[in-house]
Amino acid sequence: LAKQSGKNRYHLYDTALDRQARDQLEFLASIRHGLEQGQFELYYQPKVNLRTRAVVGAEALIRWHHPQRGLLAPGAFLAQVANTELDIQIGEWVAATALAQLRTWHEQGLKLSVSINISGYHLESPDFVDRLRKLMAPYPMLPFGALQIEVLETVALNDIAIVRDILAACGRLGVTFALDDFGTGYSSLSYLSSLPFDELKIDQSFVRDMLDDKGDLAIVQGVVALAAAFERQIVAEGIETPAHYQALLDMGCALGQGYGIAKPMPAGALPDWRGQWLEREVAA
Ligand code: C2E
Ligand code: MG
Ligand code: MG
Ligand code: MG
Repeated sequence: LAKQSGKNRYHLYDTALDRQARDQLEFLASIRHGLEQGQFELYYQPKVNLRTRAVVGAEALIRWHHPQRGLLAPGAFLAQVANTELDIQIGEWVAATALAQLRTWHEQGLKLSVSINISGYHLESPDFVDRLRKLMAPYPMLPFGALQIEVLETVALNDIAIVRDILAACGRLGVTFALDDFGTGYSSLSYLSSLPFDELKIDQSFVRDMLDDKGDLAIVQGVVALAAAFERQIVAEGIETPAHYQALLDMGCALGQGYGIAKPMPAGALPDWRGQWLEREVAA
């Protein structure tokens, strides 16, 4: 009996120890399966010129139509794939899907750029540039700058020398780069002049609170001025209200995204949304 209960105890202990690892493996397998089954979709959030209201681009944001759990945002699954081969597979699927969508839109006369979010692990993987070149090969009709890659500020700072080379090589393919969630990295700004980023995206947390928080307002104004000084494009994320929109316009921020302009939407919904958005301009 003693031996038996000891064995049971061992078994329970073993189960508790392994549960997390087993769940993780199962979850990764379900993502892999979902990719093969076409359960993932890119939603697109428009990026507009705040002054002219022109729709200049769209950010691709991944969604998972989970068979049991419904529509999942990246917060529900991307952390689990971090630093695995699957991270790269997802990134390549995103790039391929966004490029095909770009061609469709450009053929329809909708000449916007599309931004994709690429993880640091993927960006710094050994043959990133070669594989991107292969993904882009079927689309010689796309103009320079049609594809943009967003990289988190924190990633760009990790390995400045390596990131600089990757950006330069991708630049020769006609790809531009944005520094995402700018302001959250608590970093020295001196690297800015040495990295060929085309665009800074002010993190939404600063925009959200800037009208109530003088510190956040100062950060937003500072980043707008910084982008102007370094001759980079500037995008405000997280514009939720007309007051946000107007304040950013007044301080000279050129571009913006946010729920107050449009929430991320399926690709097919974007042309109609754009028509309504431009009509509203006429009405205003
Ligand atoms: P991000 O790149 O900074 O994207 C902006 C996020 O803020 C998106 O959330 C978007 O839906 C949300 N957002 C946009 N406007 C507003 C607003 O006005 N208010 C609020 N509260 N939120 C707004 P989402 O789609 O859940 O994506 C979250 C993050 O996941 C992204 O942040 C990005 O870092 C990452 N992500 C999304 N798609 C991909 C992808 O395909 N690959 C990778 N590696 N990361 C992705
Ligand atoms: Mg982004
Ligand atoms: Mg962001
Ligand atoms: Mg973010």
